[in-house]
Amino acid sequence: MQDNKIKDNWINKFGLSHPLLIAGPCSAETEEQVLEVAHQLKNTSTSILRAGIWKPRTRPGNFEGVGAIGLKWLQRAKEETGLLIATEVANANHVELALEHDVDILWIGARTTVSPFVVQEIAQAMKGIDKIVLVKNPVNPDLALWEGAIERLYAQNINKIGAIHRGFSTYGQNHYRNNPEWQIPIDFKNNFPDVPLLIDPSHIAGNRDKIAYLCQKALDLNYEGMMIETHPNPDKAWSDAKQQITPQRLQEITENLRVRTAKVDQQLSAEVLEKLRTKIDIVDDKIIDLLAKRMAIASEIGEWKKENNVSILQVERWNQVLARMLGLGEETNLSETFILRLYKAIHQESINHQNKIINK
Ligand code: PEP
Ligand code: MN
Repeated sequence: MQDNKIKDNWINKFGLSHPLLIAGPCSAETEEQVLEVAHQLKNTSTSILRAGIWKPRTRPGNFEGVGAIGLKWLQRAKEETGLLIATEVANANHVELALEHDVDILWIGARTTVSPFVVQEIAQAMKGIDKIVLVKNPVNPDLALWEGAIERLYAQNINKIGAIHRGFSTYGQNHYRNNPEWQIPIDFKNNFPDVPLLIDPSHIAGNRDKIAYLCQKALDLNYEGMMIETHPNPDKAWSDAKQQITPQRLQEITENLRVRTAKVDQQLSAEVLEKLRTKIDIVDDKIIDLLAKRMAIASEIGEWKKENNVSILQVERWNQVLARMLGLGEETNLSETFILRLYKAIHQESINHQNKIINK
């Protein structure tokens, strides 16, 4: 990979707060709403006001953004509050209009990062600009596509680049609206250590409850900041209502976050431990998620057995499962005793789930 890393991080250069906080509504709706939220955010740790003007909506017919008029509202919010302003651009025309209206930070959305053609068009329209450009991860879990977008920007002499982790799409109901897949941003950070990485907990979670948890997890993994959807009246928002929070709630969340600074050796080694623990937590989350999925399938099998009048315990099948897992355990250095205990417990829980179905 070519040496295209930022020499000094633009967060420090701009004298912006660390961790960097970008907040504001999913969509600019009216001039009043933009000004109201901007004035409320001025009293929080927010450095940058965000608002979508052109909204990429999955289905047609939903609110698709107010368009260029919203840029004037953002400009006014900047004049009145001193906050920097940020919006999403998805084509060369958006870039031109945003630059005309002195937008400070342009971001490329998750649905745009997936398309090298569009990213290339946007990068060329931005050639040599001295603005901050943030790139959201693509909707699909593809690290190379994310990194490719960053490289296309560098190739056009754009140097104040950042990345936003907003999670990845999966099919079907999930714990998250967009799965975090933490290993992808961790790999991204290893490959681009000087590109500030921010978390977008709003689009990962899809609801308000997990925002604080996701922000803390990101800080524990040394992310440089966050972008959080914030609305004066979240329930009435025209887009992404469930995941938006009030500026007051934003302030509460950010006040309670622990930012770890490595000053002395002892603190450094405590940080190493904390990072490893965070990694363990991430794996544990996945284990529970997978176990829940396994039990859901066991329940489906229970339904089938009930309809077909088949007994729950099928010894032959259980022996097959166990033999396969003992083999895998040997390959991966997990002891026989451990595999036996683990799989007996899992099998028992599956049987309990099936019993519930049969006795319904
Ligand atoms: C947004 O930030 O409002 C947005 C549309 O995000 P994403 O591109 O991550 O879906
Ligand atoms: Mn949104």
